[in-house]
Amino acid sequence: MTDFSTSHEAPAIIAIDGPAGSGKSSVSKQVARRLGYGYLDTGAAYRALAWLAIQRGVDTSDASSVLDVSGDFDYAISLDPDDYWVRVGETDVTAAIREPEVSDAVSGVARVPPVREGINHLFRALVAGSGLPGVIVEGRDITTVVAPDAPVRVLLTASPEVRAARRSAEVTTQDAATVAAALHRRDASDSTVVDFLTAAPGVVVVDSTDLDFDQTVDAVLNVIGTGITR
Ligand code: C5P
Repeated sequence: MTDFSTSHEAPAIIAIDGPAGSGKSSVSKQVARRLGYGYLDTGAAYRALAWLAIQRGVDTSDASSVLDVSGDFDYAISLDPDDYWVRVGETDVTAAIREPEVSDAVSGVARVPPVREGINHLFRALVAGSGLPGVIVEGRDITTVVAPDAPVRVLLTASPEVRAARRSAEVTTQDAATVAAALHRRDASDSTVVDFLTAAPGVVVVDSTDLDFDQTVDAVLNVIGTGITR
């Protein structure tokens, strides 16, 4: 079992980018387990901030209101892939941040540059203070903005149809067409802020369109193996 309290060296960062439905969360968690590393879900921070803004009745499309809310964003997240939770203040928001209402609002929150800077700072502090040998950091701009110097950087993709099908299997409260439409809307909105569909130089693409879960995990582990021995 991983000791989540000891290690004196800076953690190795494995950066994994990709769009919604590419499998990046579940794959990243499993890769973390296989390596005895931590797992940082970066989308959860944007979701939690969107949740807080909604709680406060703030218009999430208004940048200055969002920035105000981010000023007192008391955020905590577990890096343990086997004990995942997200908190805002004393409230456990692990389930609440997956609600469609939050998914629809999150792009608005994520497009505010000073909000992104603050949140990126938070990610670097979470990794640096983790005490772990390594952390799989997963999101949309990790390979390019948050950790461009990570020794291993992967872009996990899949075709839009496969991504929509995977996402609708996860969301049971809406029909498949509604889930697909929301995902494509969010992709379009997010891609105006971060280009998560094109690999930056030095980033290895893993296309999971024709791979099952275990094959995708193995493909990412292969890239990591290559990166570490390089
Ligand atoms: O990955 P997930 O679907 O949970 O991300 C939720 C939202 O957070 C994305 O749609 C995007 O707007 C934002 N996000 C981001 N940068 C990241 C991770 C997520 O802008 N690194």
